[in-house]
Amino acid sequence: MGAKYQQFHQRSISDPEGFWGEQSGLIHWNKPFSRVLDYSRPPFAKWFVGGETNLCYNAVDRHLKDRPDQNALIFISTETDTEKAYSFRELHAEVNRCAAMMQGLGVCKGDRVLIYMPMIAEACFAILACARIGAIHSVVFGGFASHSLANRIDDAKPKLIISADAGSRVGKVVSYKPLLDEAISLSKFPPKHVVLVNRGLDKTMERTAGRDLDWEELRTKHMNAQVPCVWLESNEPSYILYTSGTTGLPKGVQRDVGGHAVALAASMKHIYCGNAGETYFSTSDIGWVVGHSYIIYGPLIAGMATIMYEGTPVRPDGGILWKIVEKYKVSVMFSAPTAIRVLKKQDPAFLKKYDLSTLKFLFLAGEPLDQPTAQWISEGLGRPIIDNYWQTETGWPILANPMGVEDIPRKFGSPGFPMYGYNVKLLHESTSEEVGTDEKGVVAIVPPLPPGCMSTVWGNDERFVKTYFETIPGKMVYSTFDWGIRDKDGYYFILGRTDDVINVAGHRLGTREIEEAISSNPAVAEVAVIGVADQLKGQVPVAFAVVKDPAQIASREGRMKLEGEVMKTVDLQLGAIGRPARVHFVTILPKTRSGKVLRRSIQAICEGRDPGDLTTIEDVSALQQVRDALAGKA
Ligand code: ATP
Ligand code: MG
Repeated sequence: MGAKYQQFHQRSISDPEGFWGEQSGLIHWNKPFSRVLDYSRPPFAKWFVGGETNLCYNAVDRHLKDRPDQNALIFISTETDTEKAYSFRELHAEVNRCAAMMQGLGVCKGDRVLIYMPMIAEACFAILACARIGAIHSVVFGGFASHSLANRIDDAKPKLIISADAGSRVGKVVSYKPLLDEAISLSKFPPKHVVLVNRGLDKTMERTAGRDLDWEELRTKHMNAQVPCVWLESNEPSYILYTSGTTGLPKGVQRDVGGHAVALAASMKHIYCGNAGETYFSTSDIGWVVGHSYIIYGPLIAGMATIMYEGTPVRPDGGILWKIVEKYKVSVMFSAPTAIRVLKKQDPAFLKKYDLSTLKFLFLAGEPLDQPTAQWISEGLGRPIIDNYWQTETGWPILANPMGVEDIPRKFGSPGFPMYGYNVKLLHESTSEEVGTDEKGVVAIVPPLPPGCMSTVWGNDERFVKTYFETIPGKMVYSTFDWGIRDKDGYYFILGRTDDVINVAGHRLGTREIEEAISSNPAVAEVAVIGVADQLKGQVPVAFAVVKDPAQIASREGRMKLEGEVMKTVDLQLGAIGRPARVHFVTILPKTRSGKVLRRSIQAICEGRDPGDLTTIEDVSALQQVRDALAGKA
C-alpha cells in the first residue's frame, strides 16, 4: 500500500467520525446532522444522525445552477436504434413529472415502488422520482421471470409497480407484461396500480382495466409539475435491492439516504476520479447494484453525464462500446470481466479504431478478473484497468485502487487494497484468528460498516445480524463469504466464495485457484470448476472449459489431448491434488445475465440434481452443453 494512502485509510479507521464528517461536505444537507456516527446498537450503524438530505436533490437539482444545459443522462439503445440525451434541466423536468404521477396515485414517503423495467430512460426517471418523494424503490432486474418477481413483490409489498411492454435483447423482443401479470397473480400482495411505458415493441400487450395505466398519458397530465424534494433523515430507507442469489435465497439489501449519498460522492472522488462535466459509462444494468451506484446515483451526484446503454458489447459489432466512448468523450468506464472476455473473442483491431483519448480508466468488477483478461485489455487500451471488489451489500468498493488519493502500482489478478472506511481482516475459518501473509482467510469487515453499506435486511433485522455477523465463531464481524489472501506487499486476492470450496480427500481447495491455474493454459478462454460428490474422495474437481480455437476440440482425439494438457497445467501450478477429475469442453458457460457463472447449477447437473432457479440465466443452451458434455456427446 502506498504511504499516502495508508495514512488516509488509517485515519478512516481510527477516527471514523472525523474522516466521514469531512466527506459529508461533498453533498448538500438541508439540515446538518448532530452526530456523524451512532453505534450504540452494534452491528447497526447510523450515519449522520439527524441530518436531512435527499438523493434526488443531490443528483439533479443541485446541478441546475452550474450546469443546467450539460448532458445528465444519455440513453443509447442499439436494440431499437435510439439515442437521446437529457440535460440536467430536462432530467429535472422528467423526474418532476414522474414524481407527480406517483403522488397522484397515492404514493407517499416510505411506500415501496417496484421498478421492473428494461434499460430505458424512464427507469432512471422513476428511480429518481422515488428518491425525490421519499418513496422506497425496489428495482427488480428485467431478466427475472414471474416466480422470482412474485417473491420480490411479496417481500417489498409495493404500492405501485412501474414496468414496460417489453425489452429487447440481441434484436429480439422480450415481453415484460405477461411475466408481470403472472407474477402479480401469484403474489399475495398485488399492487393497486401498474404504470406501463409503452415502447411499441409488444403490440399484443394486454391491460387490466382500473389497475394498469399508461406512462405517457400520466406524464402529459403532469407536464409542468413541480414536486418539491421531501427531506429525509439520513437513516431513513432509500431503496431495497435483492442480491443476485448466486449462493442462495436473495436478501433484500436496504440502504439509507445520507450515508449512501456521502459514500457514493466520496467514491467518485477517491476511487473513480469522475469530475463534474465529464461522462461516465457503466455497462451494467439498473437491476444490479452497479447500476444503482454507478449508472444512476454516483455519476449524477458528481455532476457527470451518465450513459444508460441497452445492448450488448458486440452488436452491431465488437467496437460499439469504444464507439460510444469516442462519441460522448467518456472519461471513466465501468464494466465486468465477462464483457471483456466476450470482446477478447473479437477482432482486436476494434480497440484501435476509435479515438479513446478522453478515457482515463476502465474499472471492472463483479467477478474475478483473471490475469490474461486483465493483461489483454490493459495492453489493448493502454489505460489503467482497475479491478474492484464489492457486493450488493456494500454498495461501493471494499477493495480497489484509490486512484484519486494515490495511484499505487497494480498487480494483475489483485483488486488492490481495502478502501477507506473498511477495516478488512482475513480470518481463519475455524480459529477466527487473523491469517498470515499468503495464507487464505475469510474476507471479513470489522464493524461498524462504513456509510453506504446496507443498513439491514428489509423488514428483518434478525436475518441481517444472523446472516452477516454471526458466521465467524466468537467474533462479531461482517463476513463477505469470500476467500482472500494478502501477499507480502499488502495486495489482496479474492479466491472465490466460501461455499465454492471443494473438499478433496480432506484437502480444502478453492475452485477459483484451480480456475486460475487452468486459465493460464493458452488454449483456454474461460473455465468454471466445481466440486462433484465422489464416493471415494468426498468431492472431486470437475472443469468445464471454453477453448479459444474450437478446431482443437473438433475430434475426440483433440479433446483428449487437450484435457491431458490442461491437467498437466494444474499439476505444475497447484500440484496433483488440484487436478480436475475431468475437463469437459463447451462453447459457453452457464451464466447469469450479470455475468456470474452459475456454479451451483452446473454442480447440480453433475450430481443429477435439479439445477434450481434459472430465471436469470443468459443462455439456457449452456446447460444443455453441460449435460451433453457429461453424457460424452460433446
Ligand atoms: P448472493 O449473495 O445472493 O449469492 P451474489 O453474491 O452473486 O449473490 P452480488 O452482490 O452481485 O451477488 O455479488 C458479489 C460477489 O461477487 C462478491 O461477494 C464476490 O464473490 C464477487 N465479486 C465481485 N467483485 C469481484 C472482484 N472484483 N473479484 C472477485 N470477485 C468479485
Ligand atoms: Mg453475495
